[in-house]
Amino acid sequence: MTEPPFSLWSLRSVVEEALFQSIFSGAFHTLAPMKILSDLPDLREAVARLPRPLALVPTMGALHSGHCALIKEARRLAGPEGSVAVSIFVNPIQFDDAADLGSYPCPLEDDLAQCSQEGVDLVFTPEKGSLYAPNHSTLVTESQLTRHLCGATRPGHFEGVLTIVLKLFNLFQPDQAVFGDKDFQQLALIRRMVRDLNHPVQITGHPTVREPDGLALSSRNVRLSAAQRADASRIPRSLRAARDLAVTGEQNPSVYLDSARTRLLDAAPDGFAIDYLELVDPETVQPVSKVTDSAVLATACFYDEIRLIDHLTIRLKG
Ligand code: AMP
Repeated sequence: MTEPPFSLWSLRSVVEEALFQSIFSGAFHTLAPMKILSDLPDLREAVARLPRPLALVPTMGALHSGHCALIKEARRLAGPEGSVAVSIFVNPIQFDDAADLGSYPCPLEDDLAQCSQEGVDLVFTPEKGSLYAPNHSTLVTESQLTRHLCGATRPGHFEGVLTIVLKLFNLFQPDQAVFGDKDFQQLALIRRMVRDLNHPVQITGHPTVREPDGLALSSRNVRLSAAQRADASRIPRSLRAARDLAVTGEQNPSVYLDSARTRLLDAAPDGFAIDYLELVDPETVQPVSKVTDSAVLATACFYDEIRLIDHLTIRLKG
C-alpha cells in the first residue's frame, strides 16, 4: 500500500508549517516528510522501509523539552542517514488510577509539530483497540526490581509499562531505544527486561531535563495550580540538600532520608504528601542498609491528586 505523506489530514497544515520552519532553521536532516501512522499493518510496512539504524523514543505524548532531548539523542544515535521514530500512546494498562488516565493531557497537534521540528521520520499514534485485543491476557512481569518505589505504590503499573515497551520493540525492531533517567526505576526495568528476554535493542538513558528552578519536566506539571507549581521546587531542593550531606562521608541511610523528609514537609501546602521516599541501590532498586559507593534517593510526592517523581544519585567519594 502506498502511504499518503500524512495519514491524519486534519493535522497536515500544522505539520507542514513545522516542517517549513525546520528546513529553514537548518534543523531538519532530510526533506522526506514525517510519516504519521496509527494502524499496525501500515506501521509494519513503513518500518520495513525505514533506513537503518532505527532509534525509537516511546512516549505518552504531551511532549516537552525532556522528550525533545531524547529525540535529539535518538538522532545522534541513528545518525543523519538512519531513522528516528517516536510513539505517542497513553497506555491505559499502566494506569492504576482511572482519574489520572482520564486527565492525562493529549495535545496531539502540538506533539506532531514538535516531532516534525526535531526531524522525526515516523510518529506512531495507535488507538487502544489496535494494540490491545479486548481479551488480551499476556503481560510482562518483573519480580525483583519492582518491589520498591513506584513498583510498590502503583500495583500493576510496571507490568503495563513493560508490556507496552516490549510490544513497541516487537513492532519497530529498533536498533536503539532512548528513555529518560527521570523514570529511573522504569529505565532499570527496561534494561532488565531486554537482558532477561534477549531482545537485541540497545537501551540508552538520558539525564533528567529540569526547569530553571530544578523541577523535573513532566507532562503532569501543567496540571499543577500556579501556587503548586511555585512550591514544587521543594522536591528537587530537598533531594539536593540531602545529597549534599555526602561530602561528610555519611553512610547512614536514615540521615539522608530524615533530611529529605524534613525539608519536603517543611511548611508544605495543604494537599502535599509524600507517597514514598527511599534510598535504594541503583542496580537492584532495593533499599540500602549502608551507603558505600552510590545510592539513589528517590521520591514520589502528591500535590492533591497530581503525583510527581524525582530522584538524585548520592555518591561517596572513595
Ligand atoms: P512519558 O511520556 O512521560 O511516558 O515519557 C516518555 C519518555 O520521556 C520516558 O523515557 C521518560 O523517562 C522521558 N522523560 C520524561 N520526562 C523527562 C525529563 N524531564 N527529562 C528527560 N526525560 C524525560
